[in-house]
Amino acid sequence: MCAQLGGQPIFIMKEGTERTRGKDAMENNIAAAKVIAEAVRTSLGPRGMDKMLVDQFGDVVITNDGATILKEIDVQHPAAKMMVEVAKTQDSEVGDGTTTSVILAGEFLKRAEKLLEQKIHPTVITEGFRKAADKAIEVLNNMSIKSGIDDYDGLKNAAMTCMSSKIVSESKDMLADLTIEAIKAIAEQDEEGKWVADIDKVQIQKKEGEMIDDTKLIKGIILDKEVVNPGMPKSVSDAKILLLQSAIEIEKTEFDSKLQITSPEQMQAYLDEEEKMLRNMVTKIKNAGANVVICQKGIDDMAQHFLAKEGIMAVRRVKKSDIEKLASATGGTIFNDLDDVTAEQLGNAGKVEERKVMGDSWIFIEECADPKSVVILIRGGTDLIVDEVDRAIHDALCVVRDIVEDQKIVGGGGAPELETAIQLREYASTLGGREQLAVEIFADSLDIVPKTLSENAGLDQIDILMKLRASHQKGNKFAGFDLESGEVVENMMNIGVVEPTAVKVQAIKSATEACSMILRIDDVIAGAKSDMPPGGPGGMPPGGMGGGMGGMGGMGGMGGMPPGMM
Ligand code: ADP
Ligand code: MG
Repeated sequence: MCAQLGGQPIFIMKEGTERTRGKDAMENNIAAAKVIAEAVRTSLGPRGMDKMLVDQFGDVVITNDGATILKEIDVQHPAAKMMVEVAKTQDSEVGDGTTTSVILAGEFLKRAEKLLEQKIHPTVITEGFRKAADKAIEVLNNMSIKSGIDDYDGLKNAAMTCMSSKIVSESKDMLADLTIEAIKAIAEQDEEGKWVADIDKVQIQKKEGEMIDDTKLIKGIILDKEVVNPGMPKSVSDAKILLLQSAIEIEKTEFDSKLQITSPEQMQAYLDEEEKMLRNMVTKIKNAGANVVICQKGIDDMAQHFLAKEGIMAVRRVKKSDIEKLASATGGTIFNDLDDVTAEQLGNAGKVEERKVMGDSWIFIEECADPKSVVILIRGGTDLIVDEVDRAIHDALCVVRDIVEDQKIVGGGGAPELETAIQLREYASTLGGREQLAVEIFADSLDIVPKTLSENAGLDQIDILMKLRASHQKGNKFAGFDLESGEVVENMMNIGVVEPTAVKVQAIKSATEACSMILRIDDVIAGAKSDMPPGGPGGMPPGGMGGGMGGMGGMGGMGGMPPGMM
Protein backbone atom coordinates (compact mmCIF):
# COMPACT_ATOMS: atom_id res chain seq x y z
CA MET A 1 0.00 0.00 0.00
CA CYS A 2 1.46 3.34 -0.89
CA ALA A 3 0.70 7.00 -1.37
CA GLN A 4 2.21 9.38 -3.89
CA LEU A 5 4.23 12.41 -2.91
CA GLY A 6 5.60 14.43 -5.75
CA GLY A 7 5.72 11.39 -7.96
CA GLN A 8 7.70 9.49 -5.33
CA PRO A 9 5.82 6.48 -3.88
CA ILE A 10 5.85 6.33 -0.08
CA PHE A 11 5.24 2.88 1.30
CA ILE A 12 3.02 2.99 4.35
CA MET A 13 2.42 -0.69 4.75
CA LYS A 14 4.27 -3.88 4.13
CA GLU A 15 4.46 -4.94 0.54
CA GLY A 16 1.76 -7.42 -0.42
CA THR A 17 -0.91 -5.77 1.72
CA GLU A 18 -4.19 -5.80 -0.12
CA ARG A 19 -6.68 -3.01 0.04
CA THR A 20 -10.20 -2.79 -1.32
CA ARG A 21 -12.08 0.42 -0.86
CA GLY A 22 -15.43 2.09 -1.12
CA LYS A 23 -18.03 0.48 -3.31
CA ASP A 24 -15.83 -2.53 -4.13
CA ALA A 25 -15.20 -3.34 -0.49
CA MET A 26 -18.88 -3.05 0.32
CA GLU A 27 -19.96 -5.18 -2.62
CA ASN A 28 -17.41 -7.84 -1.73
CA ASN A 29 -18.49 -8.00 1.86
CA ILE A 30 -22.17 -8.15 1.04
CA ALA A 31 -21.58 -10.86 -1.55
CA ALA A 32 -19.68 -13.00 0.92
CA ALA A 33 -22.31 -12.53 3.63
CA LYS A 34 -25.08 -13.48 1.21
CA VAL A 35 -23.27 -16.70 0.35
CA ILE A 36 -23.34 -17.71 4.00
CA ALA A 37 -27.04 -16.91 4.33
CA GLU A 38 -27.72 -18.85 1.15
CA ALA A 39 -25.80 -21.84 2.50
CA VAL A 40 -28.07 -22.29 5.52
CA ARG A 41 -31.32 -21.17 3.90
CA THR A 42 -32.49 -24.60 2.80
CA SER A 43 -32.12 -25.99 6.31
CA LEU A 44 -34.71 -23.69 7.93
CA GLY A 45 -37.68 -25.33 9.58
CA PRO A 46 -38.92 -28.90 10.04
CA ARG A 47 -39.03 -29.42 6.28
CA GLY A 48 -35.53 -28.06 5.84
CA MET A 49 -32.80 -30.25 4.40
CA ASP A 50 -29.86 -31.65 6.35
CA LYS A 51 -26.24 -30.96 5.62
CA MET A 52 -23.49 -33.51 5.58
CA LEU A 53 -20.26 -31.88 6.60
CA VAL A 54 -16.93 -33.58 6.11
CA ASP A 55 -13.79 -32.11 7.65
CA GLN A 56 -10.23 -32.51 6.42
CA PHE A 57 -9.81 -35.66 8.52
CA GLY A 58 -12.85 -37.22 6.92
CA ASP A 59 -15.00 -36.92 10.05
CA VAL A 60 -18.66 -36.59 9.20
CA VAL A 61 -21.34 -34.48 10.85
CA ILE A 62 -24.93 -34.67 9.66
CA THR A 63 -27.06 -31.85 10.96
CA ASN A 64 -29.54 -29.17 10.13
CA ASP A 65 -28.53 -26.91 12.97
CA GLY A 66 -27.45 -23.52 11.63
CA ALA A 67 -24.87 -22.88 14.32
CA THR A 68 -23.28 -26.27 13.80
CA ILE A 69 -23.17 -25.95 10.03
CA LEU A 70 -21.40 -22.63 10.26
CA LYS A 71 -19.06 -23.84 12.99
CA GLU A 72 -17.96 -26.76 10.87
CA ILE A 73 -17.32 -24.92 7.63
CA ASP A 74 -14.00 -23.18 7.69
CA VAL A 75 -14.85 -19.70 6.47
CA GLN A 76 -12.05 -17.30 5.52
CA HIS A 77 -13.66 -14.14 4.19
CA PRO A 78 -13.84 -11.54 6.97
CA ALA A 79 -17.44 -10.54 6.21
CA ALA A 80 -18.45 -14.18 6.01
CA LYS A 81 -16.82 -14.66 9.38
CA MET A 82 -19.01 -11.93 10.78
CA MET A 83 -22.04 -13.87 9.63
CA VAL A 84 -20.73 -16.92 11.45
CA GLU A 85 -20.48 -14.70 14.51
CA VAL A 86 -24.19 -13.89 14.16
CA ALA A 87 -25.01 -17.57 14.61
CA LYS A 88 -22.59 -17.87 17.51
CA THR A 89 -24.07 -14.89 19.33
CA GLN A 90 -27.57 -16.19 18.78
CA ASP A 91 -26.52 -19.59 20.08
CA SER A 92 -24.82 -18.30 23.20
CA GLU A 93 -27.54 -15.79 24.05
CA VAL A 94 -30.68 -17.86 23.50
CA GLY A 95 -29.64 -21.23 22.08
CA ASP A 96 -32.08 -21.36 19.16
CA GLY A 97 -32.95 -19.36 16.06
CA THR A 98 -29.45 -19.50 14.62
CA THR A 99 -30.53 -20.23 11.07
CA THR A 100 -33.19 -17.54 11.28
CA SER A 101 -30.72 -14.90 12.44
CA VAL A 102 -28.27 -15.65 9.63
CA ILE A 103 -30.96 -15.69 6.96
CA LEU A 104 -32.29 -12.39 8.31
CA ALA A 105 -28.86 -10.77 8.24
CA GLY A 106 -28.39 -11.95 4.66
CA GLU A 107 -31.74 -10.51 3.63
CA PHE A 108 -31.09 -7.18 5.36
CA LEU A 109 -27.84 -6.87 3.42
CA LYS A 110 -29.37 -7.92 0.13
CA ARG A 111 -32.04 -5.25 0.39
CA ALA A 112 -29.67 -2.64 1.80
CA GLU A 113 -27.54 -3.15 -1.30
CA LYS A 114 -30.46 -1.93 -3.42
CA LEU A 115 -30.62 1.28 -1.39
CA LEU A 116 -26.88 1.72 -1.74
CA GLU A 117 -27.30 1.50 -5.49
CA GLN A 118 -29.78 4.35 -5.22
CA LYS A 119 -26.98 6.37 -3.62
CA ILE A 120 -28.42 6.28 -0.14
CA HIS A 121 -25.61 6.61 2.36
CA PRO A 122 -24.85 3.56 4.54
CA THR A 123 -25.19 5.63 7.71
CA VAL A 124 -28.76 6.52 6.78
CA ILE A 125 -29.50 2.85 6.29
CA THR A 126 -27.89 1.69 9.52
CA GLU A 127 -29.63 4.46 11.46
CA GLY A 128 -32.98 3.45 9.96
CA PHE A 129 -32.27 -0.22 10.74
CA ARG A 130 -31.51 0.65 14.34
CA LYS A 131 -34.86 2.39 14.71
CA ALA A 132 -36.63 -0.45 12.95
CA ALA A 133 -34.99 -3.04 15.21
CA ASP A 134 -36.04 -1.16 18.34
CA LYS A 135 -39.59 -0.95 17.07
CA ALA A 136 -39.60 -4.61 16.02
CA ILE A 137 -38.52 -5.69 19.50
CA GLU A 138 -41.29 -3.59 20.99
CA VAL A 139 -43.83 -5.19 18.66
CA LEU A 140 -42.62 -8.69 19.48
CA ASN A 141 -42.83 -8.09 23.21
CA ASN A 142 -46.30 -6.58 22.91
CA MET A 143 -47.70 -9.40 20.83
CA SER A 144 -46.36 -12.06 23.23
CA ILE A 145 -48.38 -14.20 25.56
CA LYS A 146 -47.35 -14.69 29.16
CA SER A 147 -45.77 -18.01 30.00
CA GLY A 148 -43.25 -19.28 32.52
CA ILE A 149 -42.15 -22.17 34.68
CA ASP A 150 -45.71 -23.21 35.57
CA ASP A 151 -47.00 -23.11 31.99
CA TYR A 152 -46.35 -26.75 31.15
CA ASP A 153 -48.15 -26.60 27.78
CA GLY A 154 -46.21 -23.53 26.68
CA LEU A 155 -42.86 -25.05 27.67
CA LYS A 156 -43.68 -28.40 26.11
CA ASN A 157 -44.88 -26.94 22.81
CA ALA A 158 -41.87 -24.65 22.55
CA ALA A 159 -39.45 -27.49 23.29
CA MET A 160 -41.20 -29.69 20.72
CA THR A 161 -41.27 -26.92 18.12
CA CYS A 162 -37.56 -26.33 18.42
CA MET A 163 -36.85 -30.04 18.10
CA SER A 164 -39.22 -30.55 15.20
CA SER A 165 -36.58 -29.26 12.81
CA LYS A 166 -34.00 -31.74 14.11
CA ILE A 167 -33.16 -35.11 12.65
CA VAL A 168 -34.24 -36.76 15.90
CA SER A 169 -37.70 -35.18 15.85
CA GLU A 170 -39.55 -38.50 16.25
CA SER A 171 -38.41 -38.58 19.85
CA LYS A 172 -39.25 -34.94 20.52
CA ASP A 173 -42.18 -35.68 22.83
CA MET A 174 -40.14 -37.66 25.31
CA LEU A 175 -37.05 -35.44 24.97
CA ALA A 176 -39.17 -32.34 25.62
CA ASP A 177 -40.46 -33.77 28.90
CA LEU A 178 -36.94 -34.65 29.90
CA THR A 179 -35.62 -31.15 29.29
CA ILE A 180 -38.54 -29.51 31.11
CA GLU A 181 -37.98 -31.77 34.10
CA ALA A 182 -34.27 -30.96 34.05
CA ILE A 183 -34.78 -27.19 33.91
CA LYS A 184 -37.47 -27.28 36.59
CA ALA A 185 -35.09 -29.16 38.86
CA ILE A 186 -32.29 -26.62 38.59
CA ALA A 187 -34.29 -23.38 38.22
CA GLU A 188 -34.14 -21.02 41.18
CA GLN A 189 -35.74 -17.75 42.18
CA ASP A 190 -33.48 -14.85 43.09
CA GLU A 191 -34.17 -12.34 45.88
CA GLU A 192 -36.57 -10.37 43.70
CA GLY A 193 -38.49 -13.50 42.78
CA LYS A 194 -37.08 -13.63 39.24
CA TRP A 195 -36.55 -17.13 37.87
CA VAL A 196 -33.04 -18.05 36.78
CA ALA A 197 -32.07 -21.33 35.17
CA ASP A 198 -28.38 -21.93 34.65
CA ILE A 199 -28.11 -24.67 32.05
CA ASP A 200 -24.55 -25.41 33.13
CA LYS A 201 -26.19 -27.22 36.02
CA VAL A 202 -27.53 -29.75 33.54
CA GLN A 203 -24.68 -32.07 32.65
CA ILE A 204 -24.78 -33.97 29.41
CA GLN A 205 -23.30 -37.47 29.31
CA LYS A 206 -23.23 -39.25 25.98
CA LYS A 207 -22.75 -42.91 25.19
CA GLU A 208 -23.61 -44.59 21.94
CA GLY A 209 -25.61 -47.79 22.26
CA GLU A 210 -29.25 -48.65 23.04
CA MET A 211 -31.82 -46.28 21.52
CA ILE A 212 -32.75 -42.60 21.71
CA ASP A 213 -35.72 -43.55 23.87
CA ASP A 214 -33.31 -44.87 26.48
CA THR A 215 -32.06 -41.32 27.04
CA LYS A 216 -32.70 -40.54 30.69
CA LEU A 217 -32.70 -37.77 33.22
CA ILE A 218 -30.59 -38.63 36.24
CA LYS A 219 -31.62 -36.57 39.25
CA GLY A 220 -28.14 -36.49 40.63
CA ILE A 221 -24.83 -37.12 38.96
CA ILE A 222 -22.81 -39.74 37.12
CA LEU A 223 -19.17 -40.38 38.03
CA ASP A 224 -16.84 -41.99 35.54
CA LYS A 225 -15.46 -44.18 38.37
CA GLU A 226 -15.69 -47.61 39.97
CA VAL A 227 -16.33 -48.73 43.52
CA VAL A 228 -12.83 -48.84 44.99
CA ASN A 229 -12.92 -52.33 46.47
CA PRO A 230 -14.64 -55.50 45.22
CA GLY A 231 -15.74 -56.37 48.75
CA MET A 232 -17.96 -53.28 48.90
CA PRO A 233 -21.62 -53.21 47.86
CA LYS A 234 -22.22 -52.16 44.23
CA SER A 235 -25.62 -50.73 45.01
CA VAL A 236 -26.88 -48.80 48.02
CA SER A 237 -30.45 -47.65 48.47
CA ASP A 238 -31.42 -44.71 50.64
CA ALA A 239 -27.83 -43.53 50.50
CA LYS A 240 -26.29 -41.29 53.16
CA ILE A 241 -23.30 -39.86 51.41
CA LEU A 242 -20.14 -38.52 52.99
CA LEU A 243 -18.35 -36.05 50.70
CA LEU A 244 -14.72 -35.93 51.75
CA GLN A 245 -11.94 -33.68 50.53
CA SER A 246 -9.13 -35.33 52.49
CA ALA A 247 -7.59 -38.78 52.16
CA ILE A 248 -8.53 -41.78 54.28
CA GLU A 249 -4.90 -42.60 54.87
CA ILE A 250 -2.30 -42.13 57.56
CA GLU A 251 -0.63 -38.82 56.86
CA LYS A 252 3.00 -39.14 55.94
CA THR A 253 5.36 -36.83 57.82
CA GLU A 254 6.38 -33.79 55.85
CA PHE A 255 10.10 -34.13 56.43
CA ASP A 256 12.35 -37.16 56.16
CA SER A 257 12.18 -39.08 59.38
CA LYS A 258 13.68 -42.32 60.41
CA LEU A 259 11.77 -44.93 62.28
CA GLN A 260 13.99 -47.05 64.44
CA ILE A 261 12.59 -50.51 64.74
CA THR A 262 14.84 -52.83 66.62
CA SER A 263 12.62 -55.80 67.37
CA PRO A 264 9.74 -57.68 65.74
CA GLU A 265 7.51 -56.58 68.61
CA GLN A 266 8.14 -52.96 67.79
CA MET A 267 7.29 -53.60 64.16
CA GLN A 268 4.04 -55.21 65.19
CA ALA A 269 3.27 -52.37 67.57
CA TYR A 270 3.82 -49.87 64.79
CA LEU A 271 1.53 -51.71 62.40
CA ASP A 272 -1.06 -52.14 65.10
CA GLU A 273 -0.99 -48.43 65.74
CA GLU A 274 -1.51 -47.65 62.04
CA GLU A 275 -4.34 -50.14 61.85
CA LYS A 276 -5.93 -48.61 64.92
CA MET A 277 -5.86 -45.16 63.39
CA LEU A 278 -7.46 -46.34 60.16
CA ARG A 279 -10.06 -48.35 62.04
CA ASN A 280 -10.75 -45.23 64.02
CA MET A 281 -11.37 -43.21 60.88
CA VAL A 282 -13.78 -45.80 59.55
CA THR A 283 -15.59 -45.88 62.91
CA LYS A 284 -16.14 -42.13 62.67
CA ILE A 285 -17.64 -42.56 59.21
CA LYS A 286 -19.86 -45.39 60.39
CA ASN A 287 -20.98 -43.54 63.51
CA ALA A 288 -22.04 -40.55 61.44
CA GLY A 289 -24.36 -42.94 59.61
CA ALA A 290 -22.75 -42.79 56.16
CA ASN A 291 -23.18 -45.78 53.86
CA VAL A 292 -21.42 -44.19 50.88
CA VAL A 293 -18.11 -42.31 50.90
CA ILE A 294 -17.08 -40.16 47.95
CA CYS A 295 -13.49 -39.12 48.44
CA GLN A 296 -11.46 -36.58 46.51
CA LYS A 297 -8.16 -38.20 47.54
CA GLY A 298 -6.92 -41.72 48.13
CA ILE A 299 -8.27 -44.45 50.40
CA ASP A 300 -5.77 -46.78 52.12
CA ASP A 301 -6.12 -50.51 51.33
CA MET A 302 -6.61 -51.31 54.99
CA ALA A 303 -9.28 -48.62 55.31
CA GLN A 304 -11.01 -50.04 52.22
CA HIS A 305 -11.08 -53.39 53.93
CA PHE A 306 -12.67 -51.95 57.06
CA LEU A 307 -15.19 -49.96 55.05
CA ALA A 308 -16.12 -53.08 53.08
CA LYS A 309 -16.63 -55.00 56.32
CA GLU A 310 -19.06 -52.31 57.44
CA GLY A 311 -20.92 -52.57 54.14
CA ILE A 312 -19.95 -49.02 53.16
CA MET A 313 -19.46 -48.23 49.46
CA ALA A 314 -16.52 -45.97 48.66
CA VAL A 315 -15.22 -44.17 45.58
CA ARG A 316 -11.83 -42.44 45.55
CA ARG A 317 -10.01 -39.74 43.58
CA VAL A 318 -13.17 -38.02 42.45
CA LYS A 319 -12.64 -34.64 40.77
CA LYS A 320 -13.12 -31.56 42.94
CA SER A 321 -15.71 -30.20 40.48
CA ASP A 322 -17.69 -33.44 40.68
CA ILE A 323 -17.63 -33.33 44.49
CA GLU A 324 -19.01 -29.79 44.27
CA LYS A 325 -21.78 -30.89 41.92
CA LEU A 326 -22.54 -33.75 44.27
CA ALA A 327 -22.89 -31.28 47.09
CA SER A 328 -25.56 -29.37 45.19
CA ALA A 329 -27.25 -32.55 43.97
CA THR A 330 -27.39 -34.36 47.32
CA GLY A 331 -27.48 -31.40 49.70
CA GLY A 332 -24.41 -32.72 51.50
CA THR A 333 -21.56 -30.72 53.04
CA ILE A 334 -18.01 -31.24 51.82
CA PHE A 335 -15.78 -32.22 54.76
CA ASN A 336 -12.07 -31.94 55.31
CA ASP A 337 -11.87 -33.46 58.76
CA LEU A 338 -13.67 -36.64 59.81
CA ASP A 339 -14.12 -35.21 63.30
CA ASP A 340 -16.52 -32.59 61.94
CA VAL A 341 -18.91 -35.01 60.23
CA THR A 342 -22.50 -35.09 61.47
CA ALA A 343 -25.41 -37.18 60.24
CA GLU A 344 -27.46 -34.12 59.19
CA GLN A 345 -24.71 -32.86 56.92
CA LEU A 346 -24.44 -36.04 54.87
CA GLY A 347 -25.82 -35.95 51.34
CA ASN A 348 -28.92 -37.94 50.40
CA ALA A 349 -29.75 -39.97 47.32
CA GLY A 350 -32.41 -42.59 46.71
CA LYS A 351 -29.82 -44.80 45.11
CA VAL A 352 -26.10 -45.07 44.45
CA GLU A 353 -25.11 -47.79 42.05
CA GLU A 354 -22.23 -48.93 39.90
CA ARG A 355 -23.43 -49.87 36.43
CA LYS A 356 -21.75 -50.93 33.25
CA VAL A 357 -22.54 -48.73 30.26
CA MET A 358 -21.07 -50.03 26.99
CA GLY A 359 -18.18 -51.67 28.84
CA ASP A 360 -17.41 -48.69 31.10
CA SER A 361 -18.18 -48.73 34.79
CA TRP A 362 -19.99 -45.63 35.99
CA ILE A 363 -21.33 -44.70 39.39
CA PHE A 364 -24.88 -43.35 39.29
CA ILE A 365 -25.87 -41.18 42.23
CA GLU A 366 -29.53 -40.74 41.54
CA GLU A 367 -33.05 -40.19 42.83
CA CYS A 368 -31.94 -37.13 44.80
CA ALA A 369 -34.91 -35.40 46.38
CA ASP A 370 -34.17 -31.80 45.41
CA PRO A 371 -31.14 -31.88 43.15
CA LYS A 372 -29.71 -28.55 42.08
CA SER A 373 -27.56 -30.36 39.54
CA VAL A 374 -28.81 -33.06 37.17
CA VAL A 375 -27.52 -35.16 34.28
CA ILE A 376 -29.06 -36.11 30.98
CA LEU A 377 -27.62 -39.41 29.82
CA ILE A 378 -27.97 -39.52 26.05
CA ARG A 379 -28.18 -42.85 24.25
CA GLY A 380 -28.64 -43.65 20.59
CA GLY A 381 -27.65 -46.15 17.93
CA THR A 382 -24.47 -44.47 16.71
CA ASP A 383 -22.31 -41.58 17.80
CA LEU A 384 -23.68 -39.49 14.89
CA ILE A 385 -27.17 -39.88 16.34
CA VAL A 386 -25.99 -39.31 19.89
CA ASP A 387 -24.36 -36.04 18.80
CA GLU A 388 -27.51 -34.87 17.03
CA VAL A 389 -29.61 -35.73 20.10
CA ASP A 390 -27.13 -33.68 22.10
CA ARG A 391 -27.69 -30.67 19.79
CA ALA A 392 -31.45 -31.11 19.95
CA ILE A 393 -31.41 -31.31 23.74
CA HIS A 394 -29.13 -28.29 23.92
CA ASP A 395 -31.60 -26.22 21.90
CA ALA A 396 -34.57 -27.50 23.89
CA LEU A 397 -32.88 -26.78 27.23
CA CYS A 398 -32.12 -23.25 26.05
CA VAL A 399 -35.66 -22.67 24.80
CA VAL A 400 -37.20 -23.87 28.06
CA ARG A 401 -34.73 -21.73 29.99
CA ASP A 402 -35.53 -18.69 27.83
CA ILE A 403 -39.22 -19.03 28.64
CA VAL A 404 -38.66 -19.70 32.33
CA GLU A 405 -36.53 -16.55 32.57
CA ASP A 406 -38.25 -14.20 30.09
CA GLN A 407 -41.79 -15.56 30.58
CA LYS A 408 -42.97 -14.71 27.08
CA ILE A 409 -43.93 -16.81 24.07
CA VAL A 410 -45.23 -16.24 20.54
CA GLY A 411 -46.69 -18.51 17.89
CA GLY A 412 -44.15 -19.68 15.28
CA GLY A 413 -44.27 -20.63 11.62
CA GLY A 414 -43.43 -17.12 10.41
CA ALA A 415 -46.25 -15.47 12.39
CA PRO A 416 -44.13 -13.16 14.57
CA GLU A 417 -41.98 -12.02 11.64
CA LEU A 418 -44.99 -11.32 9.45
CA GLU A 419 -46.90 -9.44 12.16
CA THR A 420 -43.80 -7.40 13.01
CA ALA A 421 -43.33 -6.55 9.32
CA ILE A 422 -46.91 -5.29 9.04
CA GLN A 423 -46.61 -3.08 12.11
CA LEU A 424 -43.21 -1.82 10.99
CA ARG A 425 -44.61 -0.68 7.66
CA GLU A 426 -47.21 1.36 9.52
CA TYR A 427 -44.46 2.80 11.68
CA ALA A 428 -42.36 3.62 8.60
CA SER A 429 -45.12 5.77 7.19
CA THR A 430 -44.85 8.02 10.25
CA LEU A 431 -41.17 8.69 9.56
CA GLY A 432 -40.87 10.00 6.02
CA GLY A 433 -37.73 10.61 4.03
CA ARG A 434 -34.90 8.21 3.46
CA GLU A 435 -35.23 6.71 6.91
CA GLN A 436 -38.68 5.56 5.92
CA LEU A 437 -37.13 3.63 3.05
CA ALA A 438 -34.70 1.91 5.40
CA VAL A 439 -37.45 0.90 7.83
CA GLU A 440 -39.55 -0.37 4.93
CA ILE A 441 -36.83 -2.62 3.56
CA PHE A 442 -36.20 -3.85 7.11
CA ALA A 443 -39.88 -4.84 7.27
CA ASP A 444 -39.74 -6.48 3.85
CA SER A 445 -36.70 -8.46 4.95
CA LEU A 446 -38.63 -10.05 7.81
CA ASP A 447 -40.89 -11.75 5.26
CA ILE A 448 -37.95 -13.97 4.39
CA VAL A 449 -38.84 -16.25 7.32
CA PRO A 450 -42.36 -17.33 6.22
CA LYS A 451 -41.13 -17.26 2.60
CA THR A 452 -38.25 -19.62 3.28
CA LEU A 453 -40.39 -21.93 5.42
CA SER A 454 -42.90 -22.32 2.60
CA GLU A 455 -40.20 -22.59 -0.03
CA ASN A 456 -38.53 -25.39 1.92
CA ALA A 457 -41.86 -27.18 2.05
CA GLY A 458 -41.97 -26.99 -1.73
CA LEU A 459 -44.86 -24.53 -1.85
CA ASP A 460 -45.42 -21.23 -3.59
CA GLN A 461 -43.99 -18.45 -1.43
CA ILE A 462 -46.02 -15.62 -2.84
CA ASP A 463 -49.29 -17.48 -2.52
CA ILE A 464 -48.60 -18.35 1.13
CA LEU A 465 -47.41 -14.81 1.88
CA MET A 466 -50.61 -13.28 0.50
CA LYS A 467 -52.82 -15.64 2.51
CA LEU A 468 -50.81 -14.92 5.64
CA ARG A 469 -51.03 -11.17 5.20
CA ALA A 470 -54.77 -11.37 4.66
CA SER A 471 -55.21 -13.32 7.89
CA HIS A 472 -53.04 -10.89 9.85
CA GLN A 473 -55.01 -7.95 8.48
CA LYS A 474 -58.07 -9.60 9.99
CA GLY A 475 -56.34 -9.39 13.37
CA ASN A 476 -54.89 -12.89 13.64
CA LYS A 477 -51.49 -11.95 15.02
CA PHE A 478 -50.39 -15.57 15.27
CA ALA A 479 -51.52 -16.60 11.81
CA GLY A 480 -48.71 -18.69 10.41
CA PHE A 481 -47.76 -21.38 8.01
CA ASP A 482 -48.27 -24.94 9.23
CA LEU A 483 -45.62 -27.15 7.75
CA GLU A 484 -47.45 -30.33 8.65
CA SER A 485 -50.52 -29.54 6.57
CA GLY A 486 -49.02 -26.98 4.21
CA GLU A 487 -51.85 -24.62 5.11
CA VAL A 488 -52.10 -21.17 6.61
CA VAL A 489 -53.41 -21.47 10.17
CA GLU A 490 -55.14 -18.65 12.05
CA ASN A 491 -53.37 -19.26 15.29
CA MET A 492 -50.15 -21.23 15.40
CA MET A 493 -50.50 -21.55 19.17
CA ASN A 494 -53.54 -23.77 18.63
CA ILE A 495 -51.47 -26.30 16.75
CA GLY A 496 -48.65 -26.13 19.29
CA VAL A 497 -46.09 -24.28 17.17
CA VAL A 498 -44.65 -22.01 19.84
CA GLU A 499 -41.39 -20.12 20.28
CA PRO A 500 -39.81 -18.07 23.05
CA THR A 501 -40.09 -14.34 22.36
CA ALA A 502 -36.48 -14.06 23.50
CA VAL A 503 -35.34 -16.12 20.49
CA LYS A 504 -37.17 -13.87 18.03
CA VAL A 505 -35.92 -10.70 19.73
CA GLN A 506 -32.33 -11.89 19.76
CA ALA A 507 -32.48 -12.91 16.09
CA ILE A 508 -33.45 -9.31 15.22
CA LYS A 509 -30.69 -7.94 17.42
CA SER A 510 -27.90 -10.21 16.17
CA ALA A 511 -28.88 -9.82 12.51
CA THR A 512 -29.21 -6.02 12.67
CA GLU A 513 -25.92 -5.65 14.47
CA ALA A 514 -23.96 -7.73 11.97
CA CYS A 515 -25.62 -6.06 9.02
CA SER A 516 -24.88 -2.58 10.33
CA MET A 517 -21.31 -3.52 11.02
CA ILE A 518 -20.82 -4.82 7.51
CA LEU A 519 -22.51 -1.75 5.98
CA ARG A 520 -20.20 0.63 7.81
CA ILE A 521 -17.06 -0.91 6.32
CA ASP A 522 -15.77 0.92 3.25
CA ASP A 523 -12.18 -0.09 3.43
CA VAL A 524 -10.70 -3.55 3.74
CA ILE A 525 -6.99 -3.67 4.40
CA ALA A 526 -5.58 -7.14 4.59
CA GLY A 527 -2.03 -7.87 5.62
CA ALA A 528 0.04 -10.10 3.38
CA LYS A 529 -0.45 -13.70 4.37
CA SER A 530 2.64 -15.80 4.85
CA ASP A 531 0.82 -19.12 4.51
CA MET A 532 -1.97 -19.88 2.16
CA PRO A 533 -5.07 -21.20 3.92
CA PRO A 534 -5.70 -24.94 3.45
CA GLY A 535 -8.24 -24.32 0.74
CA GLY A 536 -5.67 -22.69 -1.47
CA PRO A 537 -5.77 -19.05 -2.51
CA GLY A 538 -8.87 -17.06 -1.77
CA GLY A 539 -8.52 -15.92 1.85
CA MET A 540 -8.57 -12.22 1.12
CA PRO A 541 -7.72 -12.55 -2.51
CA PRO A 542 -6.75 -9.62 -4.65
CA GLY A 543 -9.77 -9.04 -6.82
CA GLY A 544 -10.82 -12.66 -6.52
CA MET A 545 -13.40 -11.71 -3.98
CA GLY A 546 -15.73 -10.41 -6.63
CA GLY A 547 -18.59 -12.48 -5.36
CA GLY A 548 -20.08 -15.83 -4.76
CA MET A 549 -18.06 -18.75 -3.57
CA GLY A 550 -14.83 -17.16 -4.72
CA GLY A 551 -14.88 -15.12 -1.56
CA MET A 552 -15.05 -18.11 0.71
CA GLY A 553 -11.52 -19.36 0.55
CA GLY A 554 -12.24 -21.59 3.47
CA MET A 555 -14.59 -23.80 1.53
CA GLY A 556 -11.44 -25.85 1.23
CA GLY A 557 -12.28 -27.05 4.71
CA MET A 558 -15.21 -28.88 3.21
CA GLY A 559 -13.10 -30.47 0.58
CA GLY A 560 -14.68 -33.87 1.05
CA MET A 561 -18.17 -32.65 0.46
CA PRO A 562 -20.05 -34.23 -2.37
CA PRO A 563 -20.84 -31.79 -5.13
CA GLY A 564 -24.15 -30.04 -4.91
CA MET A 565 -24.51 -30.45 -1.15
CA MET A 566 -25.08 -26.77 -0.58
P1 ADP B 1 -33.45 -21.97 13.64
O1 ADP B 1 -32.03 -22.40 13.60
O2 ADP B 1 -33.61 -20.56 13.19
O3 ADP B 1 -34.12 -22.25 14.94
P2 ADP B 1 -35.03 -24.11 12.58
O4 ADP B 1 -34.60 -25.00 11.49
O5 ADP B 1 -35.08 -24.66 13.94
O6 ADP B 1 -34.16 -22.82 12.52
O7 ADP B 1 -36.48 -23.59 12.20
C1 ADP B 1 -37.18 -22.71 13.01
C2 ADP B 1 -38.39 -22.20 12.31
O8 ADP B 1 -39.29 -23.26 12.00
C3 ADP B 1 -39.17 -21.25 13.20
O9 ADP B 1 -39.54 -20.12 12.47
C4 ADP B 1 -40.37 -22.07 13.63
O10 ADP B 1 -41.48 -21.27 13.93
C5 ADP B 1 -40.59 -22.90 12.42
N1 ADP B 1 -41.38 -24.11 12.69
C6 ADP B 1 -41.11 -25.14 13.51
N2 ADP B 1 -42.09 -26.07 13.47
C7 ADP B 1 -43.02 -25.63 12.60
C8 ADP B 1 -44.27 -26.13 12.10
N3 ADP B 1 -44.76 -27.30 12.50
N4 ADP B 1 -44.93 -25.38 11.21
C9 ADP B 1 -44.43 -24.22 10.81
N5 ADP B 1 -43.26 -23.70 11.19
C10 ADP B 1 -42.56 -24.38 12.10
MG1 MG C 1 -34.43 -24.09 15.87
